[in-house]
Amino acid sequence: MEISVEAMLDAMNQAGLRLTKPRRALAAQVADWAHADQDFTADGLWHAVREHAPDVGRATVFRTVEVLAELGFLDRISFADGSERYHAIAPGTHHHHLTCEQCHRVVDVSACVAPDVLRQIALQAGFDLSGHRVEIFGRCPTCRDQA
Ligand SMILES: [Zn+2]
Repeated sequence: MEISVEAMLDAMNQAGLRLTKPRRALAAQVADWAHADQDFTADGLWHAVREHAPDVGRATVFRTVEVLAELGFLDRISFADGSERYHAIAPGTHHHHLTCEQCHRVVDVSACVAPDVLRQIALQAGFDLSGHRVEIFGRCPTCRDQA
C-alpha cells in the first residue's frame, strides 16, 4: 500500500491545517507504516513522531489523525473492547473489518450493507445519508481452536 507524504500534506493544507514540522513528521511516519502495511494506535504514532519532533503535543497528533481519517487516508479499526487502531488506505476506497476480540487480529471484508438498505434506514428517520460504520466482532479460527 503506497500513500504519498505529499498527498497527505496537500489534503491537510486544503483542510486548513498548517504544515508544521510535527505534521510533516507525522505524515512521513504514516507513509512508512502504510508501506510496511502496519496498523497503529494514535498513541503509538505520537511516540514515534516525538523522536523527530520532540515538542509535538498528544492533542496535535490525535487531531491530525482525526483529520486524516476524515480525509479518507486512514481507516479506523474498532475492537470489541472499545480500543481503536488505524490503517492507511487509498482515499475513496471502502471496506470493513472483522476483528478478533481475543488476539485483535483484523480481517478486511469487502461485504457491506446494501446501499439501498442504508438509504432506506436513513430515509425512514428523515435523514440525508452521509456515511456509515459497520463493525463485526468475533473470535478468529486460532482463538476458537484454543478455547
Ligand atoms: Zn484471535
